[in-house]
Amino acid sequence: MTSVTCRHNFETAHRLPHLGGKCQSLHGHSWWAEVTILAPGLSEDYTVAEFGLFKAAMRGWIDAHLDHGAMLGHRDPLVSALRSAHSKVFVFGEDWPGAAWPTVEAVAHLIATQAATWIHGIPGLAAGAHISRVRISETHVNAAEWAAQDEPTGLPPQAQDELRHLLQEGAPPA
Ligand SMILES: [Zn+2]
Repeated sequence: MTSVTCRHNFETAHRLPHLGGKCQSLHGHSWWAEVTILAPGLSEDYTVAEFGLFKAAMRGWIDAHLDHGAMLGHRDPLVSALRSAHSKVFVFGEDWPGAAWPTVEAVAHLIATQAATWIHGIPGLAAGAHISRVRISETHVNAAEWAAQDEPTGLPPQAQDELRHLLQEGAPPA
């Protein structure tokens, strides 16, 4: 088994009114996303995945959807307020159905499901390469980690619903 890891940062606000306390106020973090791709062997080019292509996909998605925006839950009244002010908002439970609120744990799940699509279609990807780990840091002391167990990550887009179900329910669809 060999793995490669890419990191990217994003400056993004969020709030967690369902938790109460200081997290219910809109606040920002300098987030770091760290995504690991694991493969049982190497490609003909002696790589797991071509770094440039994977980084471009990872940075492109994060910059477009999260950076310099806000992550909010779909029941948050700030969604309509920020949207009407033409502020960038990524809505959990709407733009991504996997979680209703943007906790650091939910952000790790979000990035895991997106990363599965980022590696799909990368030319020369090592056979059996899949997303094995996603670590999201919101501060220097707070981080969450998603790890693939038996979940078949690295799925083609048409299998994303099954992956989403796995992440939410911990079991394949009945
Ligand atoms: Zn926070």
